[in-house]
Order: sequence, then C-alpha cells, then structure tokens
Amino acid sequence: MLGFWLLVGVAAAGWVFGLPRRWLVAALVAVWAVIELAHLAGVGTAFGGSARGWLVAGGLAGVVMGYRAGLGRLRARAAPAPVPPAADPGMSDAELDRYARHLVLREIGGPGQMRLREARVLVVGAGGLGAPVCLYLAAAGVGRITLADADTVGLSNLQRQVIFRSDQRGEGKAQAAAGAMRALNPQVAVTPLPRRITGADADLIAQHDLVLDGTDSFAARDAINRACVAARVPLIAGAIAQWEGQVTLYDPAHGGPCLACLFPTAPAPGLAPPCAEAGVIGPLPGVVGSLMALEAIKQLTGAGQGLRGRMLIFDGLHGESRMIGTARRPDCPVCGSGSRVSN
Ligand SMILES: [Zn+2]
Repeated sequence: MLGFWLLVGVAAAGWVFGLPRRWLVAALVAVWAVIELAHLAGVGTAFGGSARGWLVAGGLAGVVMGYRAGLGRLRARAAPAPVPPAADPGMSDAELDRYARHLVLREIGGPGQMRLREARVLVVGAGGLGAPVCLYLAAAGVGRITLADADTVGLSNLQRQVIFRSDQRGEGKAQAAAGAMRALNPQVAVTPLPRRITGADADLIAQHDLVLDGTDSFAARDAINRACVAARVPLIAGAIAQWEGQVTLYDPAHGGPCLACLFPTAPAPGLAPPCAEAGVIGPLPGVVGSLMALEAIKQLTGAGQGLRGRMLIFDGLHGESRMIGTARRPDCPVCGSGSRVSN
C-alpha cells in the first residue's frame, strides 16, 4: 500500500504547489517506474502489490491519459476558426453584409467603404447619365447624395433613364430618383433638389467632396464647372450624343484642367445638339454613367488611377474606346490667369 500512498502524496503535493500538469505526470511516472523496478528486482514488497499488478495499473493509467490527450487534440481541431477582425468597428452587420464584395477588394476594403460612407456627393442631372450614377452611388453606400434636377419625368425619358417607371410620368425627377435610391439602399441619405445648379452655387458645391455632371447643355456644364472651380471641388463630367460618349475628371485645384481649359467657348449652334435633337442609343448613358460612378468611387476611395488629365471616349457604334490626354491651360478664362477672380 505504501506505493499507492506515495503516488497519492506526489499528486497532492503537485496540486498544492501548482505544479504544471506535464511535470506532475512525469513525477508520477517516475515514482511508478521506481516501484515497478523494485518489484522486478525482488525488493519491492514494502511498496505493496506485485510487479504484474503495478504493470497493469500503470498500463491502464497510460491508456486513460492517452485517451484524454487524444480527446483534447480532437476538441482543439474541432474548435471554430478564430473570427477574422471586422472590417471596421463602426460598420454594422448589415453594412458588412451589404458591402461584402467591396470589403474583399484590396483597393477598397474596410477603410475605402468607410470613406464612401463619409462622402458627400452632388449629382447634377437625373437624366440618362444621372440614372446609373444615382443607382450605383446609392448601392455602393456613398453616405450623402444631393441630387439636383428641375425637370419632370416624361415618356421619352424612359427609353434610357432606367431609374424611373412609367407610372412616374409628370413627377419631379429629383424626388422620383431619390425614392428609387432610398428603396435600393435605405442607409444612404439622399437630398433631392428640384432646381438647376448655376454658377452662383459655389457655396452649395463647397459642402460636397465631389460633383458629377450629367447635364446635356453647354450652358449648364459651363455654369457647374465655374462653380466647382470656385469651390475647389473636383468634377466628374460625362457627355453623350447618338452613339458616342466621353468621361473625364476636371480638377484644377490638383493640377488637372477644367472644362473651360478644353472647351473655352460654347460650340457653334447646331454643332453639339442635345440628345432631344440628335438622338441617343438607349444603353449608351448606361455605359458612360456607370463609368462616371466607377470614377467617383475611385476618386472618393483613392483606388487606382483616375481620369485627371485624361478623357475616356467610348464609341458604341464601332465598339471602340480610346483615351486622350488633356492639359490645364495657364490662360484658361475660368481656372487660369484669364479668369477675373484668382482661384
Ligand atoms: Zn480651366
């Protein structure tokens, strides 16, 4: 019995002194080995039992310990993988789910999505270009979107302005488009502005990080450009006619040209007729407006290479696109030395 009490004593001492489990097992095995060897040598009677008895007891203890160790390893393997850190502590579960395809993009990720959420964007014109711009920016989670348009929905708009429905004819475009954006993504704040943007709107524009212009007259584009230059806010401009469209970024505050650097004077009458006169193929504003939304997301998140100093031209009739370089004119009448007010 002495051998048994010896083992109990070692186990109790190990527990009292907080011996690590591995050391305790080693001590017990050592005591057991001494007893077994003593029995085999014929001097173990004082420990009690027999060589065979201690061997069986030791074997059983070994099996039990081996079983427990194996079970522990299995449990560790079956334990759930550590949860990856959330993209951002400020993002809700619904946002993590909604923007999951952005969050896995290396160039956007959590920080980029947070920048989109914090962004304030002004969209001018809820027409053919404005429709995809508004839908994609709202879907992408651009936090605050102001949408300016003085027009109402007409039947001839519906061939390409896919943000509207037939039963919305006669409704204000800004309100109707805002409703569609809220239905798509209730997490973005949309402010409809049922009026035109003029050259006097620099203060309004200064409350935004970026302006997207989808209007279709030179006078409107010129006014928006002047206000953006005055407010030092970058402007993504898209234009379409018939089968061809173009998109670029005007950003003279960061070295790029403004609209007036490229087009200092209004085109001669009849040279650049609006879509109502020249016609436009339905999906073309979908292509060019989507490019505008894409460039807006890049501009807001800092992803990739934007269109500052470049203009992308898309020819839908021949299925071609090309890029041309653009440059700021030092004597530009709006952003350069030719302007009356220094910027
Ligand atoms: Zn300029």
